[in-house]
Amino acid sequence: MTHAAAGTASEQVAVLDAYRVAVSGWAPPPDLTVSEFCDEHLIVTAGPLEGSRWRTAGAEYQRGILDAFHEPGVEIVVVKSSSQVGKTAIALAIVAYHIAHDPCPILVVEPTVKPMAEDFSTNRLEPLIDNTPTLAERVGKKRAKDSKNTILAKTFTGGSISIGGANSAASLAQRTVRLLLLDEIDRYPPELPGEGATIEVAIKRTTTFRGRRRIMLLSTPTLENAPIDSWHRLGDQRRFYVPCPGCGVMHPYEWRNVQWRDRDPLTARLVCPECAYEIGDAERVAALEHGEWIAEHPDRVDRTIVSFHLWEAYSPFSSLAEIVSSFLRAREKQKEGDRGTMHTWENTTLGETSKPDAGAGVEPSGLLARREPFPAICPPGVACITLGVDTQDDRLEAVAIGWGPGEEAWLIHRETIPGDTSQAEPWAQLDELLEREYPMVDEGRALKASATCIDSAGHRTNFVYEFVHPRQTRRVYAIIGRDGDRLITSSPSPRRWGIGQRKVPLYTIGVDSAKALIMNRLALTERGRGYVHLPAVDWCDDEFAAQLTSERLMQRFVKGVPVNVWRKIRTRNEALDCSVYALAALRILRPNLEQLAQRVEEGPVHKELKPRRAAFMDRAKRTGKKRESWMKRQR
Ligand SMILES: [Zn+2]
Repeated sequence: MTHAAAGTASEQVAVLDAYRVAVSGWAPPPDLTVSEFCDEHLIVTAGPLEGSRWRTAGAEYQRGILDAFHEPGVEIVVVKSSSQVGKTAIALAIVAYHIAHDPCPILVVEPTVKPMAEDFSTNRLEPLIDNTPTLAERVGKKRAKDSKNTILAKTFTGGSISIGGANSAASLAQRTVRLLLLDEIDRYPPELPGEGATIEVAIKRTTTFRGRRRIMLLSTPTLENAPIDSWHRLGDQRRFYVPCPGCGVMHPYEWRNVQWRDRDPLTARLVCPECAYEIGDAERVAALEHGEWIAEHPDRVDRTIVSFHLWEAYSPFSSLAEIVSSFLRAREKQKEGDRGTMHTWENTTLGETSKPDAGAGVEPSGLLARREPFPAICPPGVACITLGVDTQDDRLEAVAIGWGPGEEAWLIHRETIPGDTSQAEPWAQLDELLEREYPMVDEGRALKASATCIDSAGHRTNFVYEFVHPRQTRRVYAIIGRDGDRLITSSPSPRRWGIGQRKVPLYTIGVDSAKALIMNRLALTERGRGYVHLPAVDWCDDEFAAQLTSERLMQRFVKGVPVNVWRKIRTRNEALDCSVYALAALRILRPNLEQLAQRVEEGPVHKELKPRRAAFMDRAKRTGKKRESWMKRQR
């Protein structure tokens, strides 16, 4: 800028503002803000306040978020938050305002079409429209034959709204929109096949409205650097400061200031970092009314983006006791080696990202060093045994694990059954292994495996089904491992195969979750819940320990989205796979380990049924055919 052009500071600001208006198309604030509109017109249609009038002041932090689009130059509003703070209600309120007051084309994107987009429309948007006269009179009635208004697409006076799923390219490939609402973005598939990164594809829909567009991104966070975390950091990162009832100093509610006594959640208080005043629930909620949003990074590069963070301590509908008790539960799980529950707690209660356990793993040498002599093959403490079987073309590998309360584990047996698994022999040997009795310390007492999981992936799927089918009552399960973010076990789906299209339930196992749990537990050093005991026996050797620790969790980026994957750091890893399947068998069985342990300790473990011969072996005998020909028939 030359000296001649420079005026006073205020003149410069005025010129700059005029320039901004010119380039951004930003218009002067409307006569009615979103929060004013909500207070005047909206009825709450979900949650504890259902049926009552909307009161922005009831959770004052809502005001800053609702009205953020009225700030000069703001096009993108990012909300990274825990559950329980009314995130969806805020999104809905903004949609309602635009239907009634600032009509334009609107697109709302949920992670999936079915059920999430449909749920959003049917359970949240439609009741809101029906209960708000000013909306109802603008949105046409949904009629069966009216193609204009369906669950996922509605027109209203001056605009339209589509509700799409991030899993469907078709639902994002709509015409251009001015208001775009992206909900739960950390749960979007990172990319749309052939289209590019999902969030970018959606944002492209708003390009023609640049300067006047309104984009809202909301999500409960997941991993560091996942979409909501990245977007939040692009913004000015506002936190809600609340005055302390004791000293009046403004401070944001922070988890580190929550304190309690003697593991009792009911004693939980928010302690003021200035004066140590102990804020209870009533004062915590009452003080919200005098709070205000303060940006941590007001000097950010992109001034079109503002970002907010909220967590459960701000919620009028939660309590410090609930927050602390859910934390204590997660910490107990963590002590058992289950870090997943703590990660979920961090995401859904703190509204914070969890750090990926990158490169987490255990060294085999550490495992060998802690082998211990078991007083019996099945040592005291074991309440139940499960088997995991890995199916290879030339052998079956099995690991038996004993389980005690808190899933304390003892590796009690390992066996390799060599032989072509397209033949009957290895399977007959496996049948014997299923019936094996593992002697306990007391003479004459023994435990048998209560459940078994057999891997059906690979070349022997039908042989596994054939083996499992007659043994379902003995809790022998066919499983298939899948990676990605999924539970260790879920409901089985029926598989039909072979002559007569017989049916077996196939269980899908979340191998990444199972491996994470096993690795975390192998890292535990304190005996008790979750600890893994290794026996000082021949088979528990260098090779076994190396296999058990053969994978590492690595972070990989798919279109800029971090994904945790387990990577083999050596070729053979059957010991780990078998352990995953044995853990899955336990989770399918879901025994009450505390009760079982009591029973095993008290009474004699009665001998179970005599081993039965495999049904297909019997049939092979009856028909007088060679086993080989029977096996050929199954192919
Ligand atoms: Zn204070």
